[in-house]
Parts: sequence; structure tokens; C-alpha cells
Amino acid sequence: MNACLAGGWSFSWPVALTLAVGIGVILMARWVSRQRHFPGRESFIVLHVGICWWLAAAGLELAAQGPQCKVFWASMAWPGIIGVPTFWAVFLWQFVNSIREPLTLRGFLLLGIGPLVASAMALSNPWHQLFYGPGTLPVDGSPGAAIRYDHGPLFNAVAIYVYVFMIFCLAVVTRAALASHGVHRRHYLAFVLVTCVPWSANLSYVVFGWTLFGFDPTPFSFAFTLVAFACLILGVRLFDLLPVARHLLLEELPDPVLVVDPQRRVIDANPAALELAGQSAAWQGTTLSRWPVYGVELDAMLTAGEREMLLIPASSSRYFEVRSRDIERVTRSGTFILGQMFYLRDITERHCSELKLAEALATSEERLRTITRLHEQLQEQALRDPLTGLYNRRHLGELFARELTRCQRERTPISLALIDLDHFKQLNDRHGHLVGDDVLRAVAIHLTGNLRGSDAVFRIGGEEFLLLLPGAAGDEAFARLQALCQALAGQPLPTREGPLSVTLSAGLAVWPTQGQTLEELMQVADAALYDAKRNGRNQVRRLAATGAD
Ligand code: GH3
Ligand code: MG
Ligand code: MG
Repeated sequence: MNACLAGGWSFSWPVALTLAVGIGVILMARWVSRQRHFPGRESFIVLHVGICWWLAAAGLELAAQGPQCKVFWASMAWPGIIGVPTFWAVFLWQFVNSIREPLTLRGFLLLGIGPLVASAMALSNPWHQLFYGPGTLPVDGSPGAAIRYDHGPLFNAVAIYVYVFMIFCLAVVTRAALASHGVHRRHYLAFVLVTCVPWSANLSYVVFGWTLFGFDPTPFSFAFTLVAFACLILGVRLFDLLPVARHLLLEELPDPVLVVDPQRRVIDANPAALELAGQSAAWQGTTLSRWPVYGVELDAMLTAGEREMLLIPASSSRYFEVRSRDIERVTRSGTFILGQMFYLRDITERHCSELKLAEALATSEERLRTITRLHEQLQEQALRDPLTGLYNRRHLGELFARELTRCQRERTPISLALIDLDHFKQLNDRHGHLVGDDVLRAVAIHLTGNLRGSDAVFRIGGEEFLLLLPGAAGDEAFARLQALCQALAGQPLPTREGPLSVTLSAGLAVWPTQGQTLEELMQVADAALYDAKRNGRNQVRRLAATGAD
């Protein structure tokens, strides 16, 4: 220090340039410090403080006239010289990987050891001369002449330490440039360039001894990085715009987005994801299965290897369509899974309308079934006689046509019988209409109870019935009808006034021998019935057959 007081100072153009670059660096750091969304902001500011320190020491070394004073300021520059590559590396790592959390205090202290040790070695050089060797002398005898440094083993060790960080910096941005495309790749390539220039300047000084104003050109090369950053910030706007835009997009997205690492720890979550989980603080690093509200489901989804699922969080009335995506890095040696991203799309509205639609569909299907059932009931009712429940005349034509077709095909006969109750008018007159109805119902039961599977009975008039006996020939039908007739006569029927006896008369006709159509057969049967009535009732009659039956 004393040497500086004695040697005097001189303000030159190189000093002015150093000052100008220094002011630019301060302005840049100030601008960055005001940005809200800027990954690696703290490291970027520390990096610029390092540059300022380096520039200040360089400016003072340039301005100092005495050689010892120059060496003193050269030694004072070391916290900046080491700090710059160190925090440049940290900044690039954080920026490229979009890490917003500042470096921990422990990390800062750990990375600060290098600059401190290097400074201590440089400042203690007068005692050991292992940093700058004895050949460290002014280039000539002129006042304020630049110093040519004789680099000792400690200097070289520190240079190697610095180059490790420089190589790391280049590796980080080169990898980012290779892994990205289009505008992002150009963005990272600009970073590669910004990183390369000061380090090439430094390498050319250390290895080849190139100087600017007789001085290490590295601090001056920061003028270039300053211009490059200014271009990126003001011109292309990639430096701040892209990461901010991406960040804002996630922040503003109403759908939750969650990122987990390969150990299934939540490493990022947008505000929508935090809100759904009810998380506010200290959530980073939470194991997915312990993540509130929907972590267990997402964990199970990962285990099952599913890419899509429907999520209905228990504590909310919302529905989400979850999609998971691998975040991977493709390198020459293969593809590495860096983690997973979950995107939860709120489909509550869509899901509710789907449910409502399904409900409406089910209701209309049920209604349709009811209508069909009612329609069938109505159809059935139209074909049946309400008093006895027997088929009526309306159904007779249809059923006869069906049986006729079948019997034609099978070459079997059909017997048709007309039945009329005897003296029913008298029964009505004596006991009343209601009792007459009871008798009609009981006769219907009697007739149906004596039918076979393919037989059918119809009520075709007041107390007139028609029996259709497909497959039964004349004799068989006659015998069956007679049995029916005798059974009715021998068995009083239950009525509201007690058991009442009733008899029937029947006339038989057989297809195809006695008629081809229903009308023809009914005419023949009617004639036979008339015969039965005339003959004394309570009997079955048939006309003489016109052919064999
Ligand atoms: P016949 O032995 O000659 O057949 O004598 P009948 O008294 O049965 O004569 P007819 O066929 O003329 O009488 C039919 C009677 O059947 C007339 C009517 O009072 C009665 N009748 C018709 N429909 C119904 C009905 O739905 N219920 C009741 N209770 N009686 C009916
Ligand atoms: Mg009658
Ligand atoms: Mg009658």
C-alpha cells in the first residue's frame, strides 16, 4: 500500500475503458436484480460483483505507476478472477435448468473458499514468491510500465482450478444447445459464445502471453460480454422473455401441473397444483405418495405405468383428466428419464354434462321400455275379452291363419268347434246378469283347463265360444268335445249365488274336409250347432263329412 502512496497515479484510456465497462456491468446487475422471474438471479449478481471487483483492481493496476503497487492490485484482483468463473458456472447451471431457488448460504461459503485461498496465496506472495516468481518485473523502465508476470506453481494451480469451472461452464451451455431446437438452440449458442470470449482471452494471456495495453485482456473482454448480454436482453429478448413467458404460462395455467424426479419427489408445482393440494410452504421434495389430496393416485398411476386416468379427489367435487409424461434427456449413450410431469386437466364441466347426458339417456330408455310395455299391454287387451280374459274374435283371424299355414305344411287337420250355452237367457233372467257373468267366467276356466298346448279358445259372442284344435282330426276332436260337454254338465259352476249347473251345445267342423276358410268352417260348425240345439241341447254334433277326415 505504501508503494502505491509513493508511486503516484496516471489516468489513461485503458483506465477509462475499464471504468466504462465497470459502469456497464453495474447497470446490468441492477437491471437483473429487478427482474422477478429470472433463474439464477442471485448468482448472476454475485458474478457481476466479481467482474466489478476484477475491473476495479485492473483499473487501479493500470492507473498505478509504481511496479510494486501494480503487483499489489494484481494480487487484489484474485477474489474477482476466481469468483467470476465460479459463479458464472453456478448461474449457467441454474439458468439452463430453470432453477429459481437461490444458492444456499452453505453453497456460497463453500464456493467462496477458492477465491479466498487464491487471494491469500497472491497477497502473501512477497514471502514465498510461489505465486509470482522473481521474474515478475516491469516490461521496461518507463514510468507506469506494465508488469510482465512470472507465473509460479501456485499461480498455475489456481489457473487449473479456474479452468475446471470454465470447462464446466462450456459443457453446461453446449449440452443445453444440443438438447434444444430452433430459437432455444440459438439462444444457448449465444450463451456458448458469451462464455467462450472471456475465457479465450484469459487462455491466450496465460498460455501465449497475449496482452492488451500490456495487460491481461480478460477484464476488457467483459466489454464484449456486456454488449452480448445487452443484445440478448434488448434485441432478441430471449434472455428474459422466454424463461419468463414459460414461467408465467405455468403460473397462470388454471390446470395443475406437477413435476417429480426419478425418486418420486415433487420438485415443481404450479400455483394451481399447490392450491388443489392445499400446500403453501416447504412442499418441495415431498414424496409423491405423501402429497396431499391427489398424491396417492398419481403415485399409483406411475406404478401402474398408466399415461392417462380420471382423478376424482376425495376432498373436492372436481374431476380431472390426468396425463403423465416422461421428462427425458436424449444423449448419444441413450435416453435418460429425468422425471415425470403430471398435467391435470379440469374436466368437471365436461364430466358433469356427460353424466347428465347418460342420466337423460337412461331415463328416456326407461320411458321407451314403459311405452313399449304399455303398447304391448294395450295390444294384448285389444285382443282379449275383458270379462273372461279369453281371446276375442279380433285375434281369431290372425291365429287361424297362422295355424292353417302350419297345418298345411305339416299336412295335419284342424278342428273348429262352436259352443253355445243352453238356455242362458233363462239363467240370466232367473239369477240376474251378474250371476250370468260368473257362469261365463267359470265356463271360460272350464274350457281353458281342458285344452292342450296348441289349442285355443275364443269368446266370440255373448255366451258363444269357439275352440280351435290344430292337429286334431274329426273323431278325436269329437270325442274331446263330448268329454268337455259331459264334464260341464256334471259339474256345477261356482257363482255368487252358489253352484249352478249349465250345459253346452257344440257344433264341429274339420279342415280341410268340411271347409277351406275360417268362414266356411264356421258356417259348417254353426249348422252342426243348430243341429245340436234342435236335437235337445247338451250335446256335440257334426255334419256328415264330405271327404275323409
Ligand atoms: P239357447 O239354448 O237356444 O241358446 O237359449 P239361450 O237362452 O241361450 O238363447 P240366446 O242365445 O238367444 O240367449 C243368449 C243370452 O245370453 C241373451 C243375453 O241375455 C245373454 N248374454 C249375452 N251376453 C251376455 C253377457 O255378457 N253376460 C250375461 N250375463 N248374459 C249375456
Ligand atoms: Mg247364443
Ligand atoms: Mg245360448
